[in-house]
Amino acid sequence: MQIIEQLPVTPPNHQRVHDMSTGRVVVISGPSGAGKTTIVKQLFQRCGQLVHSVSATTRPPRPGEQNGVDYHFLTPDDFERRRIADGFIECFEVFGSGYWYGTLGSEVTPRLADGKWVVLEIDVQGASAVLQQFPDALTIFVRPETLAELERRLRHRATESEAAIERRLEVARRELEAADQYRYQVFNLSVEQAVDDIVHILNQWEIPSQC
Ligand code: 5GP
Repeated sequence: MQIIEQLPVTPPNHQRVHDMSTGRVVVISGPSGAGKTTIVKQLFQRCGQLVHSVSATTRPPRPGEQNGVDYHFLTPDDFERRRIADGFIECFEVFGSGYWYGTLGSEVTPRLADGKWVVLEIDVQGASAVLQQFPDALTIFVRPETLAELERRLRHRATESEAAIERRLEVARRELEAADQYRYQVFNLSVEQAVDDIVHILNQWEIPSQC
């Protein structure tokens, strides 16, 4: 097991105890290239009781991505309209991407009222905004073993230009600096191990009908 648990400095943030009749927000962050997306996909296969908050974004879909499944793909105007109408729990221009991303209230609030555990895969700015509103959120940061390992993975993927890789590494450095605001840091030594570690945490936090 490769988990670091950061105990809360100022309660009531990151409270484990909460009203079990409502669900829980689970935030998962981590630098791109740390394997987060694969881990989250496998996590959903292991824990059928988790629900995924589909984020909205202004970035165009990548090949194979489906509107309403991977993201709600919005035009900048539509995104802005929803932002003004208070449709988002949090929204930010994600570091270095030039695009806006946000968690729609409609993806989260009704599910919590229904007792569901809702997973938000969002960046570090989004995570701190969510914690302000949901102090008992469970926050998990998925990290590569080292920055050098992350660089190796990004280069191995070979899907991006040198400049894009450098930009991602710069963003990763910033995100890693924010890792200790999360209750848990899970090291991605292997996908299976990281998924096991997250399942362990969810069970410890008494997710209904254990994963
Ligand atoms: P990608 O474009 O590769 O799918 O995601 C880029 C980054 O945006 C990732 O770090 C991801 O965690 C973050 N992200 C995705 N959805 C949201 C969201 O709703 N809010 C925030 N703040 N970040 C998000």
